[in-house]
Amino acid sequence: GLQKIRRALVSVSDKASLREFAQFLVGHNVEIISTGGTAEKLRGYDVPVIDVSEYTSFPEILDGRVKTLVPKIHGGILGVRGNASHEEAMKLHSIEYIDLVVVNLYPFEETVRNDGSYEACIENIDIGGPTLIRAAAKNHASVTVVTDVHQYSDVMADMNDHDGCTTLSLRKRLAAVAFSLCASYDSSIAAWFMEGLGKPFPDRITISGRLKQRLRYGENPHQPAAFYMDMRGTICPGVATAEQVQGKELSYNNILDTDAAFRLVSEFTEPACAIIKHSNPCGCATGVSTEDAYLRALACDPISAFGGIVALNRKIDKAVAEQITKAFTEVVIAPDASAEALEVLSEKKATRVLLTGAMPDPRAQLQSFRSVMGGFLVQALDTKMVTTEELKIVTKRTPTENEMRDLLFAWKVCKHVKSNAIVYARDGATVGIGAGQMSRVDASRIAAWKAQEASRQAEEDTSRTAGSVVASDAFFPFVDGLVAAADAGATAVIQPGGSKRDAEVIAAADERGIAMVFTGIRHFLH
Ligand code: 5GP
Repeated sequence: GLQKIRRALVSVSDKASLREFAQFLVGHNVEIISTGGTAEKLRGYDVPVIDVSEYTSFPEILDGRVKTLVPKIHGGILGVRGNASHEEAMKLHSIEYIDLVVVNLYPFEETVRNDGSYEACIENIDIGGPTLIRAAAKNHASVTVVTDVHQYSDVMADMNDHDGCTTLSLRKRLAAVAFSLCASYDSSIAAWFMEGLGKPFPDRITISGRLKQRLRYGENPHQPAAFYMDMRGTICPGVATAEQVQGKELSYNNILDTDAAFRLVSEFTEPACAIIKHSNPCGCATGVSTEDAYLRALACDPISAFGGIVALNRKIDKAVAEQITKAFTEVVIAPDASAEALEVLSEKKATRVLLTGAMPDPRAQLQSFRSVMGGFLVQALDTKMVTTEELKIVTKRTPTENEMRDLLFAWKVCKHVKSNAIVYARDGATVGIGAGQMSRVDASRIAAWKAQEASRQAEEDTSRTAGSVVASDAFFPFVDGLVAAADAGATAVIQPGGSKRDAEVIAAADERGIAMVFTGIRHFLH
């Protein structure tokens, strides 16, 4: 299983840590062959190196498109040691074994991410690199393939421990990484093409991601899990790109809830706060400041907010940080934080603080993936937003200006609540949320009941749903859902419309002096 490293081909785009690794190889009497840029760099480090063009007696041509694509290189990588006919052929063509291939690829994803031109993206499709990597990985029985700067230390340790040899177990592990890298590299290229063609659902699809974090476990402790960042992460600031500046390690559930929270607040242009528990908001509010928004979001359901995930769409300032630390909060996510705010938050060592640098565009055309037994579903994210002009007033009474503002607010929140969803709101804050119910009337009743409970606990005289507005993520199939809202004191309703019983529902609203608008679109969320 041990294979001595005598000759290495080194051709790297990412030249970090190259000096240390190359010097280590030279220390083990390894002969190094390199392509243009890499060889130049190595010479600068006084590392003896042979140019690949000299080695193969063939120049690098076509602007580097053809550097290593020659039999002398690929024969040297693919030849099977101890195979008589291979050795004969190699001898005949003066091909020598290459024992180590160190290649990292042209930065295709980075070029796309940095808005590279079409030509730049095409030129950054590495051809020789993956060919070298795949050849070396196939012949891992004797060839070591290094595809990432982070693997240098593993190889150095293995060679140190085994007198300049590598072990088969290391070579196998590196080969597995190499193939998954090539698959992921090609799928990124394919995804970029498809996007350019406006064909989001190709005949075959490969989801490509890069490990962001190995998680301690998934939804439950007996479920192993990991977190990957994909190309979408590179266009949208969010939980996958955030920098964690303090707190315990994020859990699987934290990540899901943080994503839900951050996406909800990204809907608002004014300062806004969302508090999420188990994927659903237990409070969401806009405000004159983040502190105001936080306090109003918290007031909606302070009991549920315990251990919640807080998202803000503005820089965390000292005032809101002081409020957040009064409660038990699992995660805070925001675009940024002031130094004073971070100092305040640091008192709560366990609270994870994530900073994204910016807010995502809530209209960004992204896809969502859900797995089912034996397959997965892909759809465009629900980025639909309604404007006042698109709303159809269906009742005798037109919503007042205040009602209209709250209706649009409630509708935005409703989109982020699992179906069946009912959201009561007043003055730009939720007052009662009914989430994930199997019947709409139950969602309506639960939302009202939760609002009443919160009023009771806060020892308020009147129920918070009195004078509120209500949003329903899909139409009321029966009149009962609307009646429940009216009974709770709601004065205006926003819902898609489109039920067979719309006429009955409208009549019931008119009877009670309720103003109702139809959006014509629904926001199911499962
Ligand atoms: P260098 O900076 O040494 O000139 O180029 C290093 C890069 O060239 C590596 O990323 C490697 O994957 C890539 N490479 C090596 N051989 C070939 C080849 O024959 N064709 C192409 N297109 N890229 C190659």
